[in-house]
Amino acid sequence: MIRDFSYTSLPQRVVFGAGSLQHLGREIDALRARRALVLCTPGQRDKAERVAAMLGAQAAGIFDGAVMHVPIETARDARQAAHNLGADCAIAIGGGSTVGLGKAIALDSGLPILAIPTTYAGSEMTPFYGLTEAGLKTTGKDARVLPRTVIYDPELSRGLPVALSVTSGINAIAHAAEGLYAQDANPVMDLMAEQGIAAMARAIPAIRRDSGDMQARTDALYGTWLCGTVLGCVGIALHHKLCHTLGGSFNLPHSEVHTVVLPHAIAFNAGVAPQAMEVIARALGTPSAALGLYALAKDNGAAVALRDIGMREQDLDRAADLAVSNPYWNPRPIGPAERGLIRDLLQRAWGGVPPV
Ligand code: NAD
Repeated sequence: MIRDFSYTSLPQRVVFGAGSLQHLGREIDALRARRALVLCTPGQRDKAERVAAMLGAQAAGIFDGAVMHVPIETARDARQAAHNLGADCAIAIGGGSTVGLGKAIALDSGLPILAIPTTYAGSEMTPFYGLTEAGLKTTGKDARVLPRTVIYDPELSRGLPVALSVTSGINAIAHAAEGLYAQDANPVMDLMAEQGIAAMARAIPAIRRDSGDMQARTDALYGTWLCGTVLGCVGIALHHKLCHTLGGSFNLPHSEVHTVVLPHAIAFNAGVAPQAMEVIARALGTPSAALGLYALAKDNGAAVALRDIGMREQDLDRAADLAVSNPYWNPRPIGPAERGLIRDLLQRAWGGVPPV
């Protein structure tokens, strides 16, 4: 049954395909940019240099200081570099951390961002940004930070290590899965979510078998686009809030936390979102959404226990307190009364047992 809905599409251009980095010059011209600052992590400097070489005189310089969670000091340095170099555009080549740094520059200066994603996190499709100051991560939404152009070239993710490909892929699936039961879900995003989960569920085992499988890398990046779009257009719920709490307060790695928590958050909401469960299970090709997600992670070598990714058991009580302290929308209400249920969920996720 079609629910009533409202839907606002985001203004963005996407160029997709193996080898599509070759269109960079055309896309920079379309943005009317003359001096692009190229952003990357220290580990991806080679890719940034390739981009700068392609741009020639249209490259203003490279800033290779991107790190996880966009520390405010890094954001300030990058903003200063953009200013000093007279940049009129930022090109972010990398994962969510690099795109996040581009967003920090855009938030301050309004410079357009061209994103070239090399992981499956999906930040390039959203108007959400995060900044970390004195250990505290704040997030916000601003239309200025949405990259104007995104070049999805599967060749560039061919070298993403298999373990990170698996967890980053499940991170993408999490966006689509929660989008299916979001407060502002709509039928267009439901279609994208189902196709996104299906593409990623096909790609993950194939990448595990052969990390250079270009069909699988293409499926995964297509899934990234679809799932990221869902994240950018409809709201989030329990899963993303839990991951934000665990990642931010206990310093756990981003895509790994998503991978561990997702089956448990989905199981928690299963009873109140049967239609979403049906879609997720169909996309995964499994009878149960939650068990299918658990198997996808475990069968492909990802950690399925919080204890295996750095969480201490004695911190579970504080995590449960934090998770219920700020009320937020979820199809199954979350508040102080549900603290015990959330604590149980976290215990299961910590131990790595299958979701119930
Ligand atoms: P990341 O960007 O930190 O990348 C992880 C590591 O992989 C880095 O060291 C990077 O250099 C390396 N890497 C990236 N691509 C590679 C490739 N193709 N080959 C080899 N190495 C490669 O990790 P991520 O999971 O992409 O992003 C996580 C961050 O993004 C978090 O801070 C998260 O909060 C943020 N995020 C934001 C949004 C949003 O909408 N604002 C959405 C998703 C994620």
